[in-house]
Amino acid sequence: MGKRIIGIDLGTTNSLAAVWENGESRLIPNAFGEYLTPSVVSVDDDGTIYVGKAAKERLISYPEKTASVFKRHMGTNKEYFLGKKRYMPEELSAFVLKKLKEDAERYLGEEVEEAIISVPAYFNDMARNATKRAGRLAGLKVERIINEPSAAALAGQKQNPEEDAVVMVFDFGGGTLDVSLVECFDNVIEILAVSGDNQLGGEDFDNMIARYFILRNHLEAEKLSAETFAVIKKSAEKCKRDLTDHKSAEMVVNCAEISAKTEISRKDVTEFCLELFDRMRKPVFRVLMDAKVSADSINNIILVGGSCKMPVVQQYLKHILKRKDIETREPDRMIALGCGVCAGIKERNEDVKDMLLTDICPFSLGVGIANLKYPEVESGLMSFIIPRNSSLPISKEEVYVNAFDNQEILHMNIYQGEAMYTKDNILLGQMQAEIPPKPAGQVACKMRFTYDINGVLEVNMHIPLTGEQKQLVIVNNQLGMTEDDIRKKLEEYEKLKLNPAESDENRYVLEWGERLYMQCSGEFRDEILQRILYFDHVMSQDLYQIPKVRKYLTVFFAYVEKIMETYVNIDSSIFEDEDWYDDEEDEETDREFKGWNEEDDE
Ligand code: AMP
Repeated sequence: MGKRIIGIDLGTTNSLAAVWENGESRLIPNAFGEYLTPSVVSVDDDGTIYVGKAAKERLISYPEKTASVFKRHMGTNKEYFLGKKRYMPEELSAFVLKKLKEDAERYLGEEVEEAIISVPAYFNDMARNATKRAGRLAGLKVERIINEPSAAALAGQKQNPEEDAVVMVFDFGGGTLDVSLVECFDNVIEILAVSGDNQLGGEDFDNMIARYFILRNHLEAEKLSAETFAVIKKSAEKCKRDLTDHKSAEMVVNCAEISAKTEISRKDVTEFCLELFDRMRKPVFRVLMDAKVSADSINNIILVGGSCKMPVVQQYLKHILKRKDIETREPDRMIALGCGVCAGIKERNEDVKDMLLTDICPFSLGVGIANLKYPEVESGLMSFIIPRNSSLPISKEEVYVNAFDNQEILHMNIYQGEAMYTKDNILLGQMQAEIPPKPAGQVACKMRFTYDINGVLEVNMHIPLTGEQKQLVIVNNQLGMTEDDIRKKLEEYEKLKLNPAESDENRYVLEWGERLYMQCSGEFRDEILQRILYFDHVMSQDLYQIPKVRKYLTVFFAYVEKIMETYVNIDSSIFEDEDWYDDEEDEETDREFKGWNEEDDE
């Protein structure tokens, strides 16, 4: 049995794994036979950890024991309290990775030792290192982190090799937006520039739709319980998905606290999400500016991420880039497929070894210098050595001099970031050297930064006058876990119960039932309860019956779900204020939007 390498798209909302097999990148199905595993983790009272679909159901029934969207906080000190325990984003990510590893091992029938994990291009070093640590906590060797757009371009290039093409990768997922320009020629894929907004994603549309729903129904958001709020958000997401297939959709919420519905159209979304569209435009233009490429030089646009499925998003992109068509091909899967290609390259498979993947540095690196002109300003200034969007690997040198007469020590602080003042950037490391007392500007110091494709920064300091040379290799552990923490956690995880894959489906059906139980009232509740109890009994006593009963429950719960959607129609008192919508206001906004949503109205 060999040891395999897999590629993992560790997404904000969903995660996928892929492997290189028979000359192509293939997605790996999970225990449900599905490719998307929700990036959700939940903890039970007895300490059992649920990951994926079952955990996603618990977002509603046990919000205080369930975590999602933790990728947004990778590399920060944010803590999640699930039940009695405290988890960091990298630990929660580790549970997701462990689940994907197990699914892959079952699918391949081999041990998986290593993974290539993709991260948003905008992740800083701390978030990248946290991702690597998450891999280690999951029992995976992670030598290579790749930018998601590189992976998508790689997948796109493999499917549709086009010579000398400039490709825009527009990756709009659940929590982040990344826009990149990639040049493909021969078998080389080179990223020209990246830009993005790591706080903008499909979730923001869900929140806006939920807010709109709350407003339309005159509900008081602050008085709603966490459970009701979670139900509203789930319905908002469903409504958003329905709007992908239809021009308008009905958002229905039916739970213990409220019972309401609202008709929402695509056009409504363009109006109450104005701010989101505006934020979407900025990185598109920034990336064109950074790469010095005009919009009409783009040969191909690759859409990535679930939120790209929204017709209003595609429409808006076409409008701002002045294009007639944008190809939409498996936006959910492009990154994972690209990670699978990378895994193939890393495994040195014959059929991919000629693909060369270059990368760029998504942020600037430099040192702090004295602010001599305005000494009253407390912070030093940033002097950039490696500018954002430089191709990797890169090695660059700059010369600095002593700022003051008779200065005895030269301090060199190394920063990452784009801000002018060092206080607003991230401090990566510090170096210092003793220098002979001389007038200001007389002692030179050469600073060489070498940054490689794996994100390792080597800094060399050289004072020619004294011949002193120093070196610093930056492994950033200021935030997140130390080596010692990782060792302790690994020991702890040995004892941890991860819900076994074979019971995943059962657990999902139970959690689904529990959520419906909480949402329903009256006789339905009792019906659901009886079935859950029966299924629990079958699971402990009559193993052969499990698949049959599970199937029966799935059909029943789907039926209840449907009934709940229509059930709300019976109680229409909540819709007394149907005239809330103002036609005139609509006309005005319509004029503002003229151009990019008019096709939609045809
Ligand atoms: P990702 O992070 O790429 O998995 O994207 C997940 C996001 O895509 C979530 O916000 C989903 O709600 C959204 N999404 C997935 N499918 C659709 C769809 N058919 N229409 C609209 N949004 C979708």
